[in-house]
Amino acid sequence: MRAYNSLLKWAFLISAFLFNNNYFHYYRKGFSYNKINYPILNITLDPGHTNETNFAKFPARQGRKDFDTDNDGWIEEYELNSIVADSLETRLKNDPLINYVRTKIDGKYTKAFLECLIKNDSLITEMATRERLPNEPRAYLPVHLGKKVYNIGVFAENNSDLLLSLHFNKASWSNNYKGFHVIISPNNEKYKESLELAKIISRTFREKGYKISECIPTDPLTETPDSLLKEGIVIRNLAALGDPGHKLTKPVVLIECGWLKDYINASDKEIKELSDAVYYSIQEYVIRNNFDGNLYK
Ligand SMILES: [Zn+2]
Repeated sequence: MRAYNSLLKWAFLISAFLFNNNYFHYYRKGFSYNKINYPILNITLDPGHTNETNFAKFPARQGRKDFDTDNDGWIEEYELNSIVADSLETRLKNDPLINYVRTKIDGKYTKAFLECLIKNDSLITEMATRERLPNEPRAYLPVHLGKKVYNIGVFAENNSDLLLSLHFNKASWSNNYKGFHVIISPNNEKYKESLELAKIISRTFREKGYKISECIPTDPLTETPDSLLKEGIVIRNLAALGDPGHKLTKPVVLIECGWLKDYINASDKEIKELSDAVYYSIQEYVIRNNFDGNLYK
């Protein structure tokens, strides 16, 4: 298996080199191929929300009909999150340096995710029912749904090296914000690595022409320095990422890819470009964390 993986890895890198440097950032100036080694990065890919916990939605007649995957007359955030995750998955599937698991497929929790929830029920119940701090926003979901959100972090810790959660913001027709931002949690033992990845995502997105969001919600418990907000990065306590009741031990980032309104008519090409921006960011993170830190010199 290891020999097979190794062969796959080299075939991947050689084809990246020969055919499409633009699409494979592993090929970069100064990249030292003989330093490529395992471990592979294991990602938990979380397409945000389900139809139980969805907030942002627009009438399907205003957007692409096929984005209304559950045919309920609305294009919901969870549907678009899933579409972007599917597009990203086509990349991850062909990348021998990255393994991934998903929390949801087609907007539904996977079997493994639900088994994790049952197995860790008492821990997760404690997280979801603890008393909130005086300034802390109230839990916005009933406990049985909140537990599933807490399980995203628990599942990621049990199955991977990194949690990547994909979302879109909601903007009404009158409230015309634009742009992306990235969320990390202060309650994360790997805060430094999470911040590093958030910075890579922010830079990659900007290089690809995406603008930083004009509106970034902040957290009453934890102040985000202006220097980070200017990069489109905010520090927030969120159930899935780590909050005052539990600290996650693996790096965690949540990407608000843009505002839902701007994507309900997105072309396949736009979806692919967006998921590619996420993919390139992960590639760079893999390189930085697994290989020589001087690759870019
Ligand atoms: Zn969301």
